[in-house]
Amino acid sequence: MKPIELYKALLKQFGEQLWWPVTDAGEITPTYKKRKHLTEKQKLEICIGAILTQNTDWENVMKALENLSKAGLLSCEKIASSRQETIAKLVKPSGYFNQKAKRLKLFSQYLKNNYNYSINKMFSKPIAELRLELLSLHGIGNETADDIILYAAEKPAFVVDAYTTRFAKRFFKLPTTDYVEVKAFFESQLPKNTQLFNEFHALLVEHGKRFCKKKPNCSGCFLKTNCCFAKGNN
Ligand code: SF4
Repeated sequence: MKPIELYKALLKQFGEQLWWPVTDAGEITPTYKKRKHLTEKQKLEICIGAILTQNTDWENVMKALENLSKAGLLSCEKIASSRQETIAKLVKPSGYFNQKAKRLKLFSQYLKNNYNYSINKMFSKPIAELRLELLSLHGIGNETADDIILYAAEKPAFVVDAYTTRFAKRFFKLPTTDYVEVKAFFESQLPKNTQLFNEFHALLVEHGKRFCKKKPNCSGCFLKTNCCFAKGNN
C-alpha cells in the first residue's frame, strides 16, 4: 500500500482530525475546528503549544495553555516581558516547566528582536530557510520545527513523531528510525500539500493511540492485511 492509499484508508476510518486546536477570541480553551484563516495570535499560540507539547500529552498542554490564557499571558509579547518563574508556574501541567518556560522566553525574545513580534514576517521565508532558522533556536528540534512550519506557518513539512516512526517501521518495514529519513520517505511519495500533511500526521497519531501502540492491537487493526509486521514479514 502506498502512503497516499494509506492516508485515504486512515481518513475513511477516523474522519478529519481538524488539527491544530487553537483558542478563538474571547475563549480560554483551544478547540478542534475547521478554520479558514488563523490569526497571528493563533499562529503564535501554535508555536507556544508546539514547545509545550514536547515530551507530554496534549491534554497537559491544554491545561498549560488555559493557565496562560486566564493570566492574560498567551502571547509572545506578554511572555517576553514576564518573569520566567511566572511562566514556569503557569505551564507546570505540561511538565519540564522550568525548561519549557526558558524556551518560551527565548523564542518570544527572538521574535521580538528579529521580527518585532510579526510571526507572519518570519513565516514568509521559504520552508528550508525557515526550518534552519527554527532549528537554530534553543530547544527547538526537528519535530517542533515541523509542527510550527506545518500547523502555524501552514506550509507543507511532514511531521514525524514516535507514532509515525513506530508505524513506518512496522507497516512499511522502513529500515530506519532517523527523523530526517522517515520524513523524507513520506515527503518523497506524497504531493507537497499542506492540508494533506496536516491530516496525515494527525491520523497517524490517532491510529497509533488506538491500534499501533507499543504493544500493537493487530487483530483489531483495519490495516492488517497490508501491514508487513502483521503479515510476519518483519
Ligand atoms: S496491523 Fe498491527 S503493526 Fe500493523 S499497523 Fe496495524 S496495529 Fe500496527
